[in-house]
Amino acid sequence: MTARRALARYHRRRDFSRTAEPEGRLAEVSGERPSYVVQIHDASSMHFDFRLEADGVLKSFAVPKGPSNDPHDKRFATPTEDHPLEYRDFEGTIPEGEYGGGTVIVWDRGTYRNATSDRDGNEIPLAEGLERGHASFRLDGRKLHGGYSLTRIRDADDGGKEAWLLVKHADGHASTTGTPDPRRARSVRTGRTLHQVAAGVRPGRGDHP
Ligand code: MN
Repeated sequence: MTARRALARYHRRRDFSRTAEPEGRLAEVSGERPSYVVQIHDASSMHFDFRLEADGVLKSFAVPKGPSNDPHDKRFATPTEDHPLEYRDFEGTIPEGEYGGGTVIVWDRGTYRNATSDRDGNEIPLAEGLERGHASFRLDGRKLHGGYSLTRIRDADDGGKEAWLLVKHADGHASTTGTPDPRRARSVRTGRTLHQVAAGVRPGRGDHP
């Protein structure tokens, strides 16, 4: 995919003279462990944005209830447009009336290992798995850990939007604490809540557990 095509939908939906979101561009694919980020987005409806680096962009899903660490929770997820890697650091308020208007915090971030395989058990790239409708990966983040899968349960041509499920694997990192309340959650980047970011509270110094 060309650099222009890769983020065309992301760019088309935004007016960068109005939003502080990064314009960004297609990144080089580095040899380093790929990254992921989970943002909380207090838009017209509250949701989590789950993004995995692949092919120089962030493959993105909106997850209304957010990722859970409980393998019994099947979290509904809807694919959204690819975002630039620069979006990993975005935290702030998108103006009302703009696409995605509302406040965003960086809830979690880290790296992941791809664990996606085809029906014969051969490992395939994460992006290819997403195209085929199933991807597995092990997260190593500040908050999320261990295996997760994304599985398409409905195609777009069935007369609606694509639907996916995000599910925790039953591994040593599984738990039953679910997902914290997004309104109380704090940014791993700046320690701020959604409310504090919306109110313009400046990031504090130091570490943000
Ligand atoms: Mn969002």
